[in-house]
Amino acid sequence: MDRDILIIGGGPGGLSTALHLDRIAPHLTPRILILEKAQYPRLKLCAGGLTVDAEFLLQQLGLDVSEIPHVDADTIHFDFEAKGLNIRMRDQHALRVIRRDEFDHWLAIKTREAGIEIREGITVKNIVPKSNEVIVETDHETFHAQIVVGADGSNGVTRRCIFPDEPVYTARVLEVITPTRGGREGAFFDFFPVPENIAGYVWDFPTQIKGEAMRCWGIYDTNLLASETRPQLKEPLAQEMKRRGFELNDYEIKGHPIRWFSPGNRMSVPRVLLVGDTVGADPIFGEGISIALGYGSLAAREISESLRRGEFSFKGYRRRVLQSALGQTLIARWFITNIVYPLKWKWFQILLWRIMKPVVIVIAWLFVLNWGKRMRAPTP
Ligand SMILES: Cc1cc2nc3c(=O)[nH]c(=O)nc-3n(C[C@H](O)[C@H](O)[C@H](O)COP(=O)(O)OP(=O)(O)OC[C@H]3O[C@@H](n4cnc5c(N)ncnc54)[C@H](O)[C@@H]3O)c2cc1C
Repeated sequence: MDRDILIIGGGPGGLSTALHLDRIAPHLTPRILILEKAQYPRLKLCAGGLTVDAEFLLQQLGLDVSEIPHVDADTIHFDFEAKGLNIRMRDQHALRVIRRDEFDHWLAIKTREAGIEIREGITVKNIVPKSNEVIVETDHETFHAQIVVGADGSNGVTRRCIFPDEPVYTARVLEVITPTRGGREGAFFDFFPVPENIAGYVWDFPTQIKGEAMRCWGIYDTNLLASETRPQLKEPLAQEMKRRGFELNDYEIKGHPIRWFSPGNRMSVPRVLLVGDTVGADPIFGEGISIALGYGSLAAREISESLRRGEFSFKGYRRRVLQSALGQTLIARWFITNIVYPLKWKWFQILLWRIMKPVVIVIAWLFVLNWGKRMRAPTP
């Protein structure tokens, strides 16, 4: 065996798995190897919105994300056509926004400081689980591992190798960065494209690049209404930006899919388990950073128990995920997604975001937020 635990992908899912393993079972630390195809700080298309749950999970690992550049939004606006629900937290920001190149680089440094090896610039090409090992072929060499963690994101190779025929639920997402030009304060989600069969929203977040205040815009579409006639994805984004004085075509548009969670998604085969976007991010918003950190905690526990037992079927991993606070919020979010987007009529969206505010706040508080605090602390 080259290494007992091979983690494919050094994003939040992979790094969280390693950091949780280090906390739960420190004797395993030298037995972990992370393979990352890029070199830190590497580009990752993402708006970088960190929820309070993400910050809580990081704190449990002894990490303080305020060490890296960030912008705090005091209010999150959930709107339909610029009017709706405002969320503020008492004594705290509602959303912290980081840049993913900086965040993932920082998390990788923390992982290395814990004594965990990360090899950068290695692309995994193929994964072959056998009864006594997993063979991992890369563009450099072939590795043999006891356990493989697929943490290689929405387009990753691990899921394709272990579940070649599984259905794939992916959202399409576009992102644009602009200057601020004295614009709005806070983070905005506007669901005005839903009646046009785009099952998602346009966002506008504050951000910073190398210390300079910027805005991050984007559009998210779960693809739930893909069988209906829809405008091109960039059209609603261009409309919203125009309303705020920006011309979309003046800026670079980037796109990336997000694989989202569905309760039927498979999560493991013997000796290989999946974390982060390879299992699925939140379907309502495409929120995946806190979710990837949460999967890491569950995968670490599953791995440490399987090594203790010397049994690598990972039969219980799916149950572990679904019964956890993370699984419960994902199931709730999947359920809500399948209600709020197919009920796409303008009157319903107005009712939801402008009139039923107290109901939405209670549901969000109970089922969407605050799950991080219910996750088990990473202690041995
Ligand atoms: C446009 C956009 C905006 C988003 N905005 C937000 C947001 O505001 N807030 C939020 O919470 N989430 C957001 N998300 C979702 C979030 O980015 C993901 O859910 C999150 O990054 C998932 O983490 P992960 O570790 O599973 O995967 P990733 O972050 O994708 O990490 C996977 C890692 O694996 C590496 N890798 C891939 N293939 C291989 C290979 N073959 N060999 C070796 N290494 C490999 C990659 O280089 C990468 O480092 C957004 C996503 C998009 C596309």
